[in-house]
Amino acid sequence: MLEPKHIAVIGGGIVGASSALALARSGQRVTLIEPDQPGGTQAASYGNGAFLSPASIIPMSMPGIWKKVPGYLLDPQGPLTIRWRYLARLAPWLVRFLYAGYSLEKVQRTAAVLWSLVGDSPSRHAALAESCGHPEMIHRDGLIYAYTDRAAFEEDALAWRLRRENGLVWHELSADELHELEPALGASYSFAAFVEAGGHCVDPGGFVAAIVAQAEREGITVRKANAKDFAFANGRLKAVLTDAGTIACDGAVIAAGVHSRSLAARAGDDIPLESERGYHVELANPSVTLRRPVMPVDGRMANIMTAGGLRASGQVELASIEAAPDWKRADILRDHLLRTYPALAASRADLRISRWYGHRPSTPDGLPVISRASASEDVIHAFGHGHIGLSAGPMTGELVASLVTRKTPPFDPAPFSAARFR
Ligand SMILES: Cc1cc2nc3c(=O)[nH]c(=O)nc-3n(C[C@H](O)[C@H](O)[C@H](O)COP(=O)(O)OP(=O)(O)OC[C@H]3O[C@@H](n4cnc5c(N)ncnc54)[C@H](O)[C@@H]3O)c2cc1C
Repeated sequence: MLEPKHIAVIGGGIVGASSALALARSGQRVTLIEPDQPGGTQAASYGNGAFLSPASIIPMSMPGIWKKVPGYLLDPQGPLTIRWRYLARLAPWLVRFLYAGYSLEKVQRTAAVLWSLVGDSPSRHAALAESCGHPEMIHRDGLIYAYTDRAAFEEDALAWRLRRENGLVWHELSADELHELEPALGASYSFAAFVEAGGHCVDPGGFVAAIVAQAEREGITVRKANAKDFAFANGRLKAVLTDAGTIACDGAVIAAGVHSRSLAARAGDDIPLESERGYHVELANPSVTLRRPVMPVDGRMANIMTAGGLRASGQVELASIEAAPDWKRADILRDHLLRTYPALAASRADLRISRWYGHRPSTPDGLPVISRASASEDVIHAFGHGHIGLSAGPMTGELVASLVTRKTPPFDPAPFSAARFR
């Protein structure tokens, strides 16, 4: 039996929180380093779409995407935009991104690997929420992918084929069945895929906070600080250096979301991590209540009832982390929401709407980095979860704990190695 170690987990989003709890449960002494509230508004884990979807295994880069991108970019109401002034900086990432979806074989491999991360997320999250004393935070009553018609669904045939190949089951819904299941949806949607095994979280930020609170009850310490660097001696980690002092430790986990890139570089790995910025609008007093989460696929947005009201989240904006938000992207979501649920448009003047934006931490190949660092085997990377981090966070925590304790992992994490970018 190995001696317990002192592990510093850097970042209190879903990945850091899940890692801290899994490490505590594996018998390690854990310090969680986070400058803000765990799961607070600064974190992607706060404002996301709250989908826990086994269907979320399709990488953004798919064969033929280069043909679709110009259309998306030219559509001012579309789901994708690039801040052109960052194009030169983003170009290497974009080239890798397009290459990642170049062939069917590549995306088949990616989908299979992502299935290992998110395939059981609804039940995994439900068990985690239960063990944190908050079973009410996770619901497992399915997810609706709504299409205008069957022809629109057929355009996504490859994505659904990949899902089927990995074991996903869904039911096709006719217009009548769809509107019976979700009466608030407008008549322009006449076909859907209903993923009965899907789940959602009613309060993603609160869920992260609840995991951290439970981890504290199980012995971890939370330090309010910004991690800046590492101290190594002969390839072994001695400490994490923060703006609030030095934290001596035997190991560290880099789980700082989009801010992980510079820390990873300090640990010897140059990872092409960029922000795919996303937005949400939340209606505190919606005049409709959704029975289940809905993805109106034409808007590429997730619609869901959360603790704060009816949330619509989505949009991909490629820009630097520092660039100011462009709230027009949130307005696109609001307008799409009003079109999707006609009763909302009728009460538009009275709606109380809040807006949020955040950073998806994205690698170009759509896979996170969960592996030992080059500079020292004591540092573990756990970031880069892009569009699926809420779903993949708890399984990532299990993988991190198995790397630290050198126990058999739930599945082989080799595809997540930082070495793929060397
Ligand atoms: C609009 C949108 C919709 C999304 N929808 C979904 C969805 O429906 N389902 C899904 O599964 N995923 C979704 N995602 C993706 C998901 O939210 C992210 O992948 C996930 O939250 C990333 O978690 P994280 O813990 O890696 O990073 P974060 O949640 O960003 O947390 C990182 C934390 O690290 C801290 N930190 C930063 N720098 C330092 C430092 N130097 N020292 C210490 N701490 C530091 C930050 O303060 C922050 O709290 C969505 C994302 C967006 C933006």
